[in-house]
Amino acid sequence: MPLFQLIMARRLYANRTIGVDKNVWVEFTQLAADYKAVNLGQGFPDFSPPQFVQDAFCKAVSGGPQMHQYTRAFGHPRLVKSLAKFFSRVVGHEIDPFEDVLVTVGAYQALFCAFQALIDDGDEVIIVEPFFDCYQPMVLMAGGTAVYVPLRPVNGGSTVLSSGDWVLSAEELASKITPRTKAIVINTPNNPLGKVYKVEELQMIADLCIKHDLLCFSDEVYEWLTYDGAKHVKIASLPGMWERTITVGSAGKTFSATGWKVGWAISSGKLIKHMKIIHQNSVYHCATAAQEAVSHGFDREYELFGTPESYFQQLPATLHRKRQKLASCLRSVGLQPVMPEGGYFMITDISSVNVDLNDESTKNESYDFRFVKWLIKEKGLATIPVSAFFSPEHSKEFDKYIRFCFVKEKQKQWKKAKVIKQLEKQKRQEAAERAEQEESQSNKGNSCHLLIVSYYRPR
Ligand code: PMP
Ligand code: GLN
Repeated sequence: MPLFQLIMARRLYANRTIGVDKNVWVEFTQLAADYKAVNLGQGFPDFSPPQFVQDAFCKAVSGGPQMHQYTRAFGHPRLVKSLAKFFSRVVGHEIDPFEDVLVTVGAYQALFCAFQALIDDGDEVIIVEPFFDCYQPMVLMAGGTAVYVPLRPVNGGSTVLSSGDWVLSAEELASKITPRTKAIVINTPNNPLGKVYKVEELQMIADLCIKHDLLCFSDEVYEWLTYDGAKHVKIASLPGMWERTITVGSAGKTFSATGWKVGWAISSGKLIKHMKIIHQNSVYHCATAAQEAVSHGFDREYELFGTPESYFQQLPATLHRKRQKLASCLRSVGLQPVMPEGGYFMITDISSVNVDLNDESTKNESYDFRFVKWLIKEKGLATIPVSAFFSPEHSKEFDKYIRFCFVKEKQKQWKKAKVIKQLEKQKRQEAAERAEQEESQSNKGNSCHLLIVSYYRPR
């Protein structure tokens, strides 16, 4: 037998690829494209980054040969200096640009380096649910074991549901800590929920980290997007936490430039040095011109910090309006949104919607996955099933929610009175039709979603 065939007859894949093959973004982004659906699923702005960073990028690419070549492995010197200067002020700790900062290919790679560098075989990592889905495969690929603790909705008695009503039980969290626990992973503002952890909640987590000598991986990619007075606090800024927290950020979210894939990890040099080892032996360095542009963005924001001209004030103000509009759109069709205190996603409970999910091809999947597939295929609207952000242990409890992304310009269409009138008319017509039809439940589901699609369809 030829050698080639012998080699190919062996099992090709490595063990670390087992059990991490499914990916909600790969699946639903493709499905949305296949069905040409209005995409309120994947989280990226459908508008350009602010002019000042676009200009900085253009200037960088026409700025001579060095902008097109490798730069320093652990971060372009100009960018690490900008990040250190900017975040020293926010964290209240003097950040060393060359020791305490690692620039990565998006927040994804910062997370990957953190798990690879700091989690070992047999380590347990506590992940607060709902969680950005990649934490789980990253723990597994590092040889660790993920242990989950969910934020649970409590009924605060208010008619308006808020992400702030989802709380972490200190007892439940403490009960998950064992001698093998190495780290706790949090995400604030949270994707998909929008929860912005209050300082007391962060203090409770910090106390446990300090008491049990744990690391904290704090994913803060939506740090500038908070609403209604919610204040983003960095857990690294709490006493005793700088030395044990890896704070992860993303220029994709910060400057609405998800395609640039510039991210970073900031922490004590004692932790960052191990992450640098993973980085230097895998990616080595990140795109020079994009780093240069992000650096200019941060320098500008440093000067304008706290002023109305700051993008970190303007973007949340714009998104606040979009958030309100999406919420009223959902309410107008009988769905109750969970109002996010931060980020650019909104989840809603779909259990009141009765739809005939008769697609045989999805019959073994969870309810929200089936529902979202139906919505894409039948109604041309893409969203994301929320159980994708829960562990297999808890996903069943949370499979009646779907996530909408509201960082979309198409909502501008709402401003057109014509569209609103059209919708009002459509809504009245559908209400009349519903009343006429005996099988009100299934029709209610259909008309709800037709309405949501109408809101977003580009006109
Ligand atoms: N963390 C969270 C919570 C996210 O939502 C995302 C997606 N933007 C990432 C990390 C990855 O960010 P990036 O695109 O910068 O890799
Ligand atoms: N972070 C983005 C979201 O939550 C998308 C990430 C991705 O597409 N891989 O929608």
